[in-house]
Amino acid sequence: MQSGWSSIDELRRVQQARLVELANRSRVFVSHYSALSLPEFAPDEDPEKGIAKILSAFPVLEKAVYRDDPRSFIASDIPSKRLIRGRTGGTTGSALPLWYTPEALAEEYATVWRLRRQVGIDLYDPHFSFGGQILVPVKQSRPPFWRRNAWTGQILFSLYHMTERNLPAYIDAFHALPACYVQGYPSSFHLLGSAMIDAGRPLPVGKLKAVLTSSESLLAFQREVIEEAFASPIFDRYGTSEFAVSMTGCSFGRLHVDMEFGIVEVEVEEETADYVRGPLLVTGLANDATPFIRYRVGDVGTRSKRTCECGRPGENFLDVDGRIEDYVVTPDGRWVGRLDHIFKGQFDVVEAQVVQDSVEAIEVRVVPRTGFDSRAEALLVKEIRLRLGDEIRIDVRRVDVIQRENNGKYRAVKSVVGRNVE
Ligand SMILES: [Zn+2]
Repeated sequence: MQSGWSSIDELRRVQQARLVELANRSRVFVSHYSALSLPEFAPDEDPEKGIAKILSAFPVLEKAVYRDDPRSFIASDIPSKRLIRGRTGGTTGSALPLWYTPEALAEEYATVWRLRRQVGIDLYDPHFSFGGQILVPVKQSRPPFWRRNAWTGQILFSLYHMTERNLPAYIDAFHALPACYVQGYPSSFHLLGSAMIDAGRPLPVGKLKAVLTSSESLLAFQREVIEEAFASPIFDRYGTSEFAVSMTGCSFGRLHVDMEFGIVEVEVEEETADYVRGPLLVTGLANDATPFIRYRVGDVGTRSKRTCECGRPGENFLDVDGRIEDYVVTPDGRWVGRLDHIFKGQFDVVEAQVVQDSVEAIEVRVVPRTGFDSRAEALLVKEIRLRLGDEIRIDVRRVDVIQRENNGKYRAVKSVVGRNVE
């Protein structure tokens, strides 16, 4: 709990010690890495230098390399009966097998609970949860669209019944049932939050201590609506099923790297006096069963060069994108991400999605509010043109719902030409 507030130097010492151990074990017991004929690694007086030196001995690990032979990443010094079989996340049906130990899982939970304890949450506090589970038959048309897990004080809500017709029942439940925090996908909270604001029924101040989001990128326009509707601050979390990285949010909206858990490198594509931005390479210090070292995880992040105002030392990120986002590709060949910013301030739109099937055009699907008239549409197109230029064709289509993916997740941008390689 306390180590999150250690000085950056102490955190780097912890990282270096764990990395030395991981690198030496991998060199001997993990066939993928033994093929690299790595030297024995030793710590350095200066932990930052030591970490850089060790990492530089490892080539960047691409997902495709792991996909080709995942078993070559299993550490042979861990008895197979201790390995738990998992799967990597994958939004396009490309989930890969993964193995981990109970200790790695426990460390992951430690990062989750460190955040919860910071905001005053206790283990059995009542809460609402929005995950991808199928809880209620899809055909069911009457509430309740939720189930209670009495053991942990959790009420789980179905993501698959959140239609305009059913949302009033969700709002009733949010007001009536006990909870001091909510956890789940930001897209679901945004959908519900919009309906609460439309109905003039935001939650009373003080009901919730925190909204904890994870699994999807928390988009700027979602944050505004959710904080208003739920009358609570949002704390986002970024993690991966590979147990290779963990970042936890603070009240200033930053994501702090849980440095004891993993090392995050940024392949710098953009640099200013304030930040560096680019694809992330992550090294999981807790995943002892299938070590991922310098793993190009497929996400892009912006690391601040300044300490966060909340006072927590260590590395912090302004944002991490691309968790499930695609890019839009323009006719002149530019890859443009972070299109969600277009919808920030577009309060006449409940939800939106950009779909691209070819480089010539995009379709913008919007679930309109009553105020979404031709003027609002023209303004929206103008905002998009500012980012994508005049060449691309933009079709705006009004829809009742934005279709979710098979795992229940929402994707702000779906492009077959600008797809993130998984
Ligand atoms: Zn902070």
